[in-house]
Amino acid sequence: MAERKLKIATTSLAGCFGCHMSFLDIDEKLMLLNDRIEFNRSPLTDIKQCSPSDIGLIEGGVCNADNVRVLREFRANCTILIAVGACAITGGVPAMRNYFDLRECLEEVYLNGTGVTNPQIPSDTELPLLLDKVYPVQEVVKIDYFLPGCPPSADAFLQLLVPQLDGQKPQLAADQLHYD
Ligand code: SF4
Repeated sequence: MAERKLKIATTSLAGCFGCHMSFLDIDEKLMLLNDRIEFNRSPLTDIKQCSPSDIGLIEGGVCNADNVRVLREFRANCTILIAVGACAITGGVPAMRNYFDLRECLEEVYLNGTGVTNPQIPSDTELPLLLDKVYPVQEVVKIDYFLPGCPPSADAFLQLLVPQLDGQKPQLAADQLHYD
């Protein structure tokens, strides 16, 4: 009987997709994993809804109401949820706006900033509401593991995932624990 494949879902909240690119740097080893894993919701599959999965990988912090919705959807569907990269764990570069009032940020970008030719702050019901600050994912839902780095290396992704294929807890080597 064929072995059940581990189902993995991934998403980028307030991130730059650099962590996803680093994940793809696994290169040909991804093909070796091919018969052990399958992707659920992910930019790699373009599936839009997260259904029950073994592992969820979250890139990026939480900056708007849609990020909160997606993160809760992942928590509800993923047995193990992993915060991937500095933005998910600390808010990262997007959280630099936390030093300023949100209104001040919007006015600087859309009204008063260099090169603004048509000053207006976007306001459309289709746009997700911005939160007052950018939050680390663990401040919104419970997170099971943290994979630091900006971005984490491809080897770090492998060290995180391969033990879980056999139901083991992941152990990151010390040289994969970096915060830059
Ligand atoms: Fe991009 Fe770095 Fe944030 Fe990953 S941690 S989303 S690579 S800025």
